[in-house]
Amino acid sequence: MSQIKLGVLVALEEGPEEALAKVHDLGFSTCQVVCWRDHLFTDAVAERLRAAADRTGVEITTLWTGMPGRYVWDFIEGPSTIGLVPPETRQERLAVLKKGSDFARRVGVPSITTHVGFIPENPADPLYAGVVAALREIAAYCAANGQSFWFETGQETPVTLLRTIEDVGAANLGINLDPANLLMYGKANPVDALDIFGTYVRGVHAKDGEYPTNGRSLGAEKPLGEGRVNFPALVAKLKALNFRGALTIEREISGPQQIADIQRAKRLLEELIR
Ligand code: MG
Repeated sequence: MSQIKLGVLVALEEGPEEALAKVHDLGFSTCQVVCWRDHLFTDAVAERLRAAADRTGVEITTLWTGMPGRYVWDFIEGPSTIGLVPPETRQERLAVLKKGSDFARRVGVPSITTHVGFIPENPADPLYAGVVAALREIAAYCAANGQSFWFETGQETPVTLLRTIEDVGAANLGINLDPANLLMYGKANPVDALDIFGTYVRGVHAKDGEYPTNGRSLGAEKPLGEGRVNFPALVAKLKALNFRGALTIEREISGPQQIADIQRAKRLLEELIR
């Protein structure tokens, strides 16, 4: 019997009760809660989210914390807009991550996750030292709240992510592996990426996608099973790594087709995690 659990990504913006009801009604025991609007990080919303989790018995594995300001999800403006890399928004965004960490503590969630951004491949790039310093700060803040900080994969190569973790040097760092992102950003084969940073993987987004086909735009996201992620190989390697976390289904569309794709992904993954 595998120790791997299944979950689904839901948004706090849907409402704490609605989000957790969706997880429960779809038949999942875990979820990640994503939030891009830090005005929701209040004591009252935390109390409602905790109560909804208790009532439904759903385990929230991480608070996926979006940060404010302009994000452009491409290869042209992405490096200067995403995550903690752009210096002009770094302090404001760091403050929101801390707010997210405090909110997660009140809910009883053991980690926060975010996209750090296009971490420079060259460690001598002047941006790199600032990113490492910001990560040390948020890692220490999360540690004081009894939490881990997880990197959402995507914009950086696996070896750059591994070097960053080594350079930050905190004990509470982990990776939320989004295998589709590694393809869509053209950074790595996600199965092979586990050979580089597999021991740091604490969470996984079950999302599928394709490599880019031009030098400006991300590759396409796909329903799970229709993209290039080799989920049988990925899950087998996670089992070999003794991964005990959750595969959290992420499908970046909305409406009835999203629900249908999530249900199909759940059936496919249930076969694989047995
Ligand atoms: Mg993801």
